[in-house]
Amino acid sequence: MAMRDSVRGFMSEVVDGRGGQASKQLYFVLFFLGITLIVAASGIEQVLTGAYLWAIAILVVATALAYVLPWKRLAPGWDALVPVMDIAAIAILRQLMGGVTPAVSMLAFIPVIWLAGRLKVTGTVIATAAALLMISVPGLMQVPQLTALAILQALIWPVMALQVGLLISGALTLIEAQAASSRASLREKEVLLRHAASQEQLLQNVIDSLSAGIVVVDRYGHDLLMNRAQQHIHQVFSPPENEDPNESQLVMFYPGTAIPIPAEDRPVRRAVLKETFSNYTVAAGPAGTGAPTFSASARQILNVDGERDGAVVVFSDVTTFFEMSRAQRKFVADVSHELRTPLTSVIGYLDLVMDDPELPERSRKHLEIAERNAEQLLTLVSDLLQDHISQEQGAMKLDLQSARLSELAAQAVESIAPRAASGGVRIEVDLAQTPRTDLDPARITLALGNLLSNAVKYTPRGGTVTVRTSTSDGAVQASVSDTGIGMSDKEVAHLFTDYYRTPTALQHNIAGHGIGLTLARRALVAHGGQISVRSEPGKGSEFTLRLPLDVHEQPPGRVE
Ligand code: ADP
Repeated sequence: MAMRDSVRGFMSEVVDGRGGQASKQLYFVLFFLGITLIVAASGIEQVLTGAYLWAIAILVVATALAYVLPWKRLAPGWDALVPVMDIAAIAILRQLMGGVTPAVSMLAFIPVIWLAGRLKVTGTVIATAAALLMISVPGLMQVPQLTALAILQALIWPVMALQVGLLISGALTLIEAQAASSRASLREKEVLLRHAASQEQLLQNVIDSLSAGIVVVDRYGHDLLMNRAQQHIHQVFSPPENEDPNESQLVMFYPGTAIPIPAEDRPVRRAVLKETFSNYTVAAGPAGTGAPTFSASARQILNVDGERDGAVVVFSDVTTFFEMSRAQRKFVADVSHELRTPLTSVIGYLDLVMDDPELPERSRKHLEIAERNAEQLLTLVSDLLQDHISQEQGAMKLDLQSARLSELAAQAVESIAPRAASGGVRIEVDLAQTPRTDLDPARITLALGNLLSNAVKYTPRGGTVTVRTSTSDGAVQASVSDTGIGMSDKEVAHLFTDYYRTPTALQHNIAGHGIGLTLARRALVAHGGQISVRSEPGKGSEFTLRLPLDVHEQPPGRVE
């Protein structure tokens, strides 16, 4: 193993163009001696002539120089010294035994390659000149008659040296250029990588400094990025016995209720299912526990090709606002409720007094005015309470009955049919019978009617509205899709906000109040259900209404 490594190290120095004079020279000497040994073994006596000793002497000096000179500190031109001396030694050897074996001449390739590898074109020129002076000229001096053929034969060696040198220096220049360009592109990639890493760090620092929780998921719902605030929020929603729950295991309620949010209606899940929304409030505990409450918003992320690549969901802590507004509404409700009792009593007693036939006319008149005002006050107080009740979505009292969503959808289609016909909109139905569930038929029919009337209203003449019902795991659902004007992601994000109307609808001059969807959603949420939307501008919209199979009447006093 060690032997193989040292041979490999030796050979890599021999072929390395930049240095390793000693190894190169040793390599050459080995071949030089090898060839002379072979020749000597074949009994040719010239080997032992004085000229051969000259060649050996040159080799000894060249080898000594290769070992002792401080090559790294010398100018590159010095590198030509040893190979040129080698060519001189070869020239002598060639004189002695060139006629016996051409292998002697072949030896010259070693210093030629060495020179070309180290000094490129300059090395090639030196090698050619050395071959010319040391091999060709002495050779020519020995021929008895200087013929053209003799000159041509003598020039063979310099020409060979030139072509081998040019080949080697050309190939090396090309390899070095390629190596330099790969080094440059590697450096460029390193710079880009470092830049990307520092950008990522910067982004992480920025989002970590925000108090809102941010989570970025890919299109399959895997977390790509989560800031520190979101890690904390995730903990808030985690069940006590589970340190790292997935989204379906989180403890999440519709705020102010004891209704857990079904897994597919949780903010991140909705975002993964391509929904865009704003102000979707969720709580970490049931009503009355002062549970932390968050408002979630989601936006879809597009890649450079404009394809959906995931979503970002932002959670803001609205516990304080939520509690304040709840306390405020409760206060108003309590005050109006408390005022009603004494007021009713005042009116009762006034009635009693006025029933007295002996009451002077003047006093009766005054008491009548007092009673009228008391009644006005009672109406006002009752209106206040009523207002509060209608604001408190939780106060939505459900009249639960066993019914089929598919049948309610069929009735809603029947009611809208005349309007669709006059608007030139075709209605297609695909109503798979759904199982009976407990629901408030009046409210669900109203919600369905709203979705259908919107679909017809926002679909131009010639369009189609499709109504489908289906049953999926744990829920029945009805969808209303249209081929109408559609909505942008930004518009969809604001749907379900009181009185919101999309700019697209306003531009089309279509009348509306922007309240129907909010009411529909409240009715669904009161059932523990949900409405989701998919829409594309100019293509159409699809509203899907989901109702859990086991609806429990919401606890009183729930708010959204
Ligand atoms: P209204 O239709 O009375 O304005 P809604 O609350 O039902 O009120 O709808 C709110 C807004 O949502 C509408 O004004 C419209 O801009 C948009 N919208 C609702 N349904 C659709 C639909 N099917 N296609 C396009 N836009 C719609």
